[in-house]
Amino acid sequence: MVDRCAVTPAVTWLAVTAVLPLYLTAGMIGAAYLKDLKMSDFSGLTAALLEFRDARDWRQFHSLRNLITSLNLEASELLELTQWKTDAEIDALPGDPKAAEALRDECADILLYLLLIADTAGIDLAAAARSKLAKNAVKYPVEKAYGSRAKYTELD
Ligand SMILES: [Mg+2]
Repeated sequence: MVDRCAVTPAVTWLAVTAVLPLYLTAGMIGAAYLKDLKMSDFSGLTAALLEFRDARDWRQFHSLRNLITSLNLEASELLELTQWKTDAEIDALPGDPKAAEALRDECADILLYLLLIADTAGIDLAAAARSKLAKNAVKYPVEKAYGSRAKYTELD
């Protein structure tokens, strides 16, 4: 049986001396990467999107489940642009005007559904992105992840 009185100070010491500084450092790095990204960058686009939606009385169809489903369908449409193509053909897509337009359109569809999901769920996307980048920096410290494609659980 583990003595909780002995474990708790050890866990607290580890959190204060090791994990917390690492997290805060990663947060600062994440904040530096995204320091210019603000929710206001998305708010104008979201307002236009909601106006478009509400003018059509589509809010009634936009449950969180339907929006998440739609986002994934749009992601599949993006994936479809690569179907049966070689890597070289895929890399050439942006250089082909018709394919580039399709690529832009599907990326836009994904972003628009993401904005609707964020609006519906009350998510500040810029803050969420900064927070997630900070988490990723903890999971993938440069000294362990540099040049590696290993998942964080596989890093030594
Ligand atoms: Mg689409």
